[in-house]
Amino acid sequence: MAFSTPFSPTCGLFRNASSMNGNETELFFLGASRRRNCSHLTKSSFSGPFPQMSFGYNRIGERRDYLNSHVCASVSVLADKSTEKAQVPKGEMWSVHKFGGTCVGTSERIQNVAKIIVADDSERKLIVVSAMSKVTDMMYNVLDKAQSRDDSYVVALDAVLEKYRNTAHELLNGDDLASFLSKLHDDIDKLKALLYAIYIAGHATDFSDNIVGHGELWSAQMLSYVVRKLGQDCSWMDTREVIIVNPTSSNQVDPDYELSGKRLEEWFSRNPSKTIVATGFIASTPENIPTTLKRDGSDFSAAIMGALLRARQVTIWTDVDGVYSADPRKVSEAVILSALSYQEAWEMSYFGANVLHPRTIIPVMRYNIPIIIRNIFNLHAPGTMIGGTSREDNGDAQRLDSVVKGFATIDNVALVNVEGTGMAGVPGTASAIFGTVKDVGANVIMISQASSEHSVCFAVPEKEVNAVKEALVSRFQQALGAGRLSKVEVIPNCCILAAVGQKMESTPGVSASLFNALAKANINIRAIAQGCSEYNITVVLKREDCIRALRAVHSRFYLSKTTIAMGIVGPGLIGATLLEQLRDQAAILKEEFNIDLRVMGITGSRTMVLSDLGLDLSRWRELQKENGEVADMEKFVQHVHGNQFIPNTVLVDCTADSNVASHYYEWLRKGIHVITPNKKANSGPLDQYLKLRALQRQSYTHYFYEATVGAGLPIVSTLRGLLETGDRILRIEGIFSGTLSYIFNTFKGERAFSEVVAEAKEAGFTEPDPRDDLSGTDVARKVIILARESGLKLELSDIPVESLVPEPLKASSSPEEFMQQLPKFDQDMAKKRSDAESAGKVLRYVGVVDVVKDEGTVELRSYKKDHPFAQLTGSDNIIAFTTTRYKDHPLIVLGPGAGAQVTAGGIFSDILRLASYLGAPS
Ligand code: ADP
Ligand code: ASP
Ligand code: MG
Repeated sequence: MAFSTPFSPTCGLFRNASSMNGNETELFFLGASRRRNCSHLTKSSFSGPFPQMSFGYNRIGERRDYLNSHVCASVSVLADKSTEKAQVPKGEMWSVHKFGGTCVGTSERIQNVAKIIVADDSERKLIVVSAMSKVTDMMYNVLDKAQSRDDSYVVALDAVLEKYRNTAHELLNGDDLASFLSKLHDDIDKLKALLYAIYIAGHATDFSDNIVGHGELWSAQMLSYVVRKLGQDCSWMDTREVIIVNPTSSNQVDPDYELSGKRLEEWFSRNPSKTIVATGFIASTPENIPTTLKRDGSDFSAAIMGALLRARQVTIWTDVDGVYSADPRKVSEAVILSALSYQEAWEMSYFGANVLHPRTIIPVMRYNIPIIIRNIFNLHAPGTMIGGTSREDNGDAQRLDSVVKGFATIDNVALVNVEGTGMAGVPGTASAIFGTVKDVGANVIMISQASSEHSVCFAVPEKEVNAVKEALVSRFQQALGAGRLSKVEVIPNCCILAAVGQKMESTPGVSASLFNALAKANINIRAIAQGCSEYNITVVLKREDCIRALRAVHSRFYLSKTTIAMGIVGPGLIGATLLEQLRDQAAILKEEFNIDLRVMGITGSRTMVLSDLGLDLSRWRELQKENGEVADMEKFVQHVHGNQFIPNTVLVDCTADSNVASHYYEWLRKGIHVITPNKKANSGPLDQYLKLRALQRQSYTHYFYEATVGAGLPIVSTLRGLLETGDRILRIEGIFSGTLSYIFNTFKGERAFSEVVAEAKEAGFTEPDPRDDLSGTDVARKVIILARESGLKLELSDIPVESLVPEPLKASSSPEEFMQQLPKFDQDMAKKRSDAESAGKVLRYVGVVDVVKDEGTVELRSYKKDHPFAQLTGSDNIIAFTTTRYKDHPLIVLGPGAGAQVTAGGIFSDILRLASYLGAPS
């Protein structure tokens, strides 16, 4: 297994191939200088309607001291000397807010945003605003249409115009409205002229970023009017005049903080306002060409502005309560994290938590400025504080496993595996590989190299993988031809799952738990990387396993609940009794033992009923009638196992059907656990049984069948316990049939054998055709199950079975005819009984596994009246294990071994055993 360091996250802020070559000028700062002027700090906390967010200076000061020694930042040249000639007042009096697209999606929301701005009583405020929701997508679409010479770009642009015009009409009036609309129309006219040129030319070259950034320009202007209308003086800032960035070869941009600082001074000398509404997303190159900070870049804009102003804090307002432990759209049980370190937030966002743009952290880290993520739709929620540690230590850290803070995933990834013996010990191979990848412009998301140096494996976005492969094959043509490299292989359809948490560094066993959770959910890992900073562990998986994996690992670290999706096959007497027991016990299991059992479907041979969240077990029969559909095993299994939010699936086969049993292998292969009282699989053909057990042993899937022998009596588990602790089984002998136990316990000479059988039939103790019991086949199946469990490789046909069905009656056409004819044979049985009696014995129908002789038998035997088997009453089963440890006095299990309640109870206890194997508390 290859554990390797892609790039240590502390210096891995630019984890892409292009920055590996050192062509770009990135400086890495370790630690941060102490804060400067703090004189105006105490009163500038943001209170207003959000008491939770009043971070006093002292706390922040302490927090920052702590962080000073813990963080490192990567920024390009950011000279502190710029502050010395500052005209812009800088420091804690500034509060920076960023409102995302959804926050300004409608006129009411914009109004609401304006109120929040006004309510912030900070001395100075800078508000970064995004385009209204969907507008950036619409602008990209307009551009695409013009570039591809589709003249509907005009209509598409008019839709954006409409959106802003209507919103302005709802928010503004008088001169404000007139001047906003005049600017809007003017911009649209200019855009149309520009787009027409693009339409003619068929390409956009340098204009595209200018065009797509207009949403932010309009949002900022409109919001500033609304804030002014609420009585607060404010100016709006076109950040293309202030934020200066240099494009990088990996289609990113790096801010030039020194130049941006100068531009800010210039801007401020013209607009010395205390409240500024600034555009998100957009910026300029040093040559004043409009550009953007790339998709979702407004978070980055806010962080850059926060750093330039040395702000007290940056609040990012969005549509969720903060950063969740996993994407809340994928993991419904995800929890809000009250605090995250910068590194944790960065890792989470890098690995796909799009609540925060990954680059947002870089500028604020430099000055230890906290970022707070808050929900505009839920002002009572305190949000997540990034860059602080104190709250975390009192809160989340109480949780046992909070070493892992969160999980995130990147979809649509492909793995590239470069393999060959010629790579070992040859310096420069990695450099050649990644140099080639850089030339293609592909972004390397993670790297893993086995220590044998036999192969290097890395992940890139799926859309870039073909170009990467072609480039590598061409670069290594000679090595491939000479056999020094054996292959450049692409493994498509992958995803990346990352576990993030700063405390992982000092806590042993985190990766073990993570891999264990994945193994238990039967998820195969394609590659692994863990940076030596240990802030994250990254695994590459099959894309189809992504959400299930996320759910499984999340529940391992965050939920103590063991959630199991169940499918019940065969809701007959036993199945229905099990459902009743589950119904009665479900709440207790959930509350007291954290076991969450959800019956996602029940199927009979004709009808099935399915549920997405779990059936209400108090009315499953009604639901079956109301929503039942034609039974279809494939669809049933797909449904029960297909719920991606539940990490574990178990199918419970309550039938006696060999057809259902024939599916177990395939179910176990899919990672579905199987529990059953059905004897058919374990007593069927030996090779199939061995295959099933081998599969079960190799994988993490469980197959439990306690109720196949003795219903709820602990027979299989007792046998396993003996074997696993090193005892040697010599012999197992027992009365395994409740029916035959009843018959011989009652057959004492007062009544004829046939009368006793009739009585048992009437009492419902026998199968509808009593020959099924009397033939001994059922007992033989149990003998085979125990024999195989003890290691004997026997077929059912190897067991001699003494049938109690008189030979001539085997062919009787019906149970009734059989019962009618049976008295004719009473003589035989009466004689056997009286012979036994005269020897001081009783008759018992028993099954025997003779492990020493490697054989099994099923027969009628006589036992001395003081033998435990002779003491039996009713329909009890009794099983005696003679072992090396229990040699003179066998270990005996005795009790009712048939009936719906005890059988269902046996199945239920297997289900709980499964839950505990999956990690439920004991
Ligand atoms: P905005 O437009 O305000 O910038 P985004 O859509 O960019 O908002 O980011 C917020 C969204 O990020 C949330 O609605 C949520 O669905 C998604 N998200 C993904 N992962 C996480 C996570 N771990 N925590 C919180 N939100 C997440
Ligand atoms: N409006 C831009 C986008 O959608 C930037 C942002 O909202 O963060 O990508
Ligand atoms: Mg966003």
